[in-house]
Amino acid sequence: MAKKKTAAKRVSGKPGKSNKHVYFFGNGKADGNRNMKDLLGGKGAGLAEMTNAGLPVPPGFTISTEVCTIYYKENRKIPGAIDREIGEQLKKLEKAAGAALGSTKNPLLVSVRSGAKFSMPGMMDTILNLGLNDDAVEGLKAQTRNGRFAYDSYRRFIQMFGSVVLEIPKDAFEHEFEAVKKARGARLDTDLDEQALREVVDRYKKVAKNRSKRDFPQDPHEQLKMSRDAVFRSWMNARAIEYRRIYDIPDHIGTAVNVQMMVFGNTGDRSGTGVGFTRNPATGAKEFYGEFLINAQGEDVVAGIRTPQPIRELEQVMPKAYKQLREITTRLEKNYKDVQDFEFTIQDERLFMLQTRSGKRTGHAAVVIATDLVDEKLITPKDAILLVDPESLNQLLAPGFDPDEWKKLPVATRGLPASPGAASGEVVFSADRAVEWVNQGKQVILVRRETVPDDIHGMFVSQGILTATGGMTSHAAVVGRQMGKPSVVGAGALAIDEAGKQFRVEGKTVKEGDFVSFDGLSGEVKLGKVASKPSEILQVLNGTLDAKKSDIYRRFDRLLSWADKYRRLGIRANADQPDQAELAYAFGARGIGLCRTEHMFFGEGRIPIVQKMILADNEADRRKALDQLLPLQRDDFYGVFKGMHGEPVTIRTIDPPLHEFLPKREELMVEIARLEERGKKGKELDEKRHLLERVEQLHEFNPMLGHRGVRLGITYPEITEMQTRAIIEAACRLQKEGIKVVPEIMIPLVGMVKELRDQKTVVDRVAAEVMKAEGVKIKYLVGTMIEVPRGAATADQIATEAEFFSFGTNDLTQLSYGFSRDDVGKFLRIYQEKKILEKDPFASIDTEGVGALVDTGVKLGRKTRPDLKLGICGEHGGDPASIHFFDKVGLDYVSASPYRVPVARLAAAQAALSVKVGD
Ligand code: ADP
Ligand code: MG
Ligand code: MG
Repeated sequence: MAKKKTAAKRVSGKPGKSNKHVYFFGNGKADGNRNMKDLLGGKGAGLAEMTNAGLPVPPGFTISTEVCTIYYKENRKIPGAIDREIGEQLKKLEKAAGAALGSTKNPLLVSVRSGAKFSMPGMMDTILNLGLNDDAVEGLKAQTRNGRFAYDSYRRFIQMFGSVVLEIPKDAFEHEFEAVKKARGARLDTDLDEQALREVVDRYKKVAKNRSKRDFPQDPHEQLKMSRDAVFRSWMNARAIEYRRIYDIPDHIGTAVNVQMMVFGNTGDRSGTGVGFTRNPATGAKEFYGEFLINAQGEDVVAGIRTPQPIRELEQVMPKAYKQLREITTRLEKNYKDVQDFEFTIQDERLFMLQTRSGKRTGHAAVVIATDLVDEKLITPKDAILLVDPESLNQLLAPGFDPDEWKKLPVATRGLPASPGAASGEVVFSADRAVEWVNQGKQVILVRRETVPDDIHGMFVSQGILTATGGMTSHAAVVGRQMGKPSVVGAGALAIDEAGKQFRVEGKTVKEGDFVSFDGLSGEVKLGKVASKPSEILQVLNGTLDAKKSDIYRRFDRLLSWADKYRRLGIRANADQPDQAELAYAFGARGIGLCRTEHMFFGEGRIPIVQKMILADNEADRRKALDQLLPLQRDDFYGVFKGMHGEPVTIRTIDPPLHEFLPKREELMVEIARLEERGKKGKELDEKRHLLERVEQLHEFNPMLGHRGVRLGITYPEITEMQTRAIIEAACRLQKEGIKVVPEIMIPLVGMVKELRDQKTVVDRVAAEVMKAEGVKIKYLVGTMIEVPRGAATADQIATEAEFFSFGTNDLTQLSYGFSRDDVGKFLRIYQEKKILEKDPFASIDTEGVGALVDTGVKLGRKTRPDLKLGICGEHGGDPASIHFFDKVGLDYVSASPYRVPVARLAAAQAALSVKVGD
């Protein structure tokens, strides 16, 4: 047995789990490369790649993501063998660096950096200057003759180690830092001299001792082990988990740990640190973009400690380093064929690269960059398709302010335009309050001095994010762009009192609940509410803006037309009204996958007729009401067909339980009681009583599993008759006008072929009658939704009658899990917290279970009828991950809501291309 297994392994050609767990980079050579993100994380892969490219990268090693998995499997311990492997790589690093960890004369200092496959900005913490202790700091001072620098590094290390490893709140340290600054009359951190920093170090060590009940660890090897474990631990901290939940990143992939020789941006005025992008990540414009700080280290730029300088100014301050940085980053962009987001440090005028990765960008920028890169011949249209996240296209459809309305209010202040879009809402000062108010149906703007990773849930629900400090690469800016939230940061004129829940600006006080509006593209902030206006793209599609005048529309259109070339799946829309059909067509849908007829029943003035139909206790009365509905439905269908310009339209016969069209039982009872109380008698009271009686008759314990779908058509065939008549008459009318349509009549909730046969007989009979009367021949199809598990399991039988299937994945999910869509909210969250479910199966298809039913339905259906038309019309039709699945199982089309049509077009192309790339 055992032998067989090994043989099988060899045949499959897959390498077994390798014994290598630690990957070195340095001296122009790395064990890894850019393609090893799974193992090395994004940061580790990038460092390896840059090292191999001969760029100036401080040497180091990456402990792979597999070790993270092992760490958790082994009950949060690292096995001895891996520990030894780390020891060996550390020796190698010491040799490369020409320094030794723990040496007092020539101490090696390192950073310990987390880095998962997907970057999670600010989610996990980095420790800098590890290796310092009371002796090494003196050694560093002697070696560099720079006591200020040595103690600045030490205080930073204690604070980072204290907060990340010892889990002491940052405030405890900041409090001491501020106290020393105040006592010395220092305004900035750089105003503190060596003496002051020594005092900070003493105070920090006391904080650490008081809080952790032990002396601050002095042994660098112990510091390193503790830090490494803390990074692994941080993978499971609350904000990392929340971040992964929002961005659908699996929990099991783990993080790598990078240990890297320190380079110092804090040695004085000839040093500094910065971050940047090769293009503007907010607008996509081709411009070098970023910020730096002189005499600073690590995250000072991002954390908004001091206001950073725009990167252009580096050209004056350190022209040589600037030139080199431009050259290197241009090369990186060419090499990666995408915008790079990079980190660098300059130590005594010498440039070091510390990170490179694909830059996160707004939807707007994504489209601009992708089309520009094609024009620059750096990538092909195929690459461009894969470069844009389909979800991010939604940002391009988001409304902006109506310029006339916007002009009416004066500008209160201006901040940095970090993420474009128009935001207007009630001010809140905490993430929790944001969530609370949004749950009450309000629209809020989250206003903070600066945001921190713990704010992420509040940022997610807000209309926009407004901060007083921080630059274009601050947390609020980075996360705002990624979420596609309008954000203005660093609006320094805002005097924010978070505890007092108010801010002052221009002599005015703005309290929690007051309205604020801002424009994330210009950075302007105004006090008050401003109505917004459709996005440029929508304006073009509506015909209110000339496409020639909208650069972004033309790029959007180009990108999607490339997508159309490569996708295999057809794209339809779910639309019930003529205007929705028009919009969907304009967005590029070619067909309607689901037209819900009952939505038409709710149209103006129709409910009384529908109620009359339901209340009828005999067929004759019911037919009378249906006769009244017929012309209305016919006009509806005519409009929808026309809106789709002759593309196929799938119309579903009535589906919901009838009681949904009647007033609520409790409401009726109250009304009746009121009438009785007032001693009223007569027609009104009688009618209400009759209605109540019928409502009670129709009452169901479980309406979702009740008298609905095909069951209605079977019990009241005259409804199916009327709907068929309306559909075919509308088609005849259009045909006479020269527009050919092929209606697809779809019977919902079929689980047995006999149900469908029953309804098909009705449809065919009425269609024949109509065509004869009109003297027109129409081609139409009769099919069904596959949304009951039994329907999927017996799809071969059902296909004997059905000419098409449309998978109704909402009901199919509901019935597969036995989760009611309307009640799942009560426990879904807990299921997700307990990791029983990773994703909401109603938002993204459960490929294993529900997907298996779809797959079965496809296979069985095609076995009976090879030319069976197959589509999907659930919510999942607009979800990129689900679209990948539907492409794989071989559906002909997906149908999504009109606004999601662009997303679906792009996702379908990505699905087709990634299949070809082969995975
Ligand atoms: P994040 O994932 O949050 O970006 P990083 O690991 O990149 O965290 O590190 C945080 C900051 O510390 C960055 O500004 C980075 O450039 C800096 N840094 C990391 N390692 C070193 C190092 N070896 N020398 C100097 N600065 C470093
Ligand atoms: Mg970090
Ligand atoms: Mg970084």
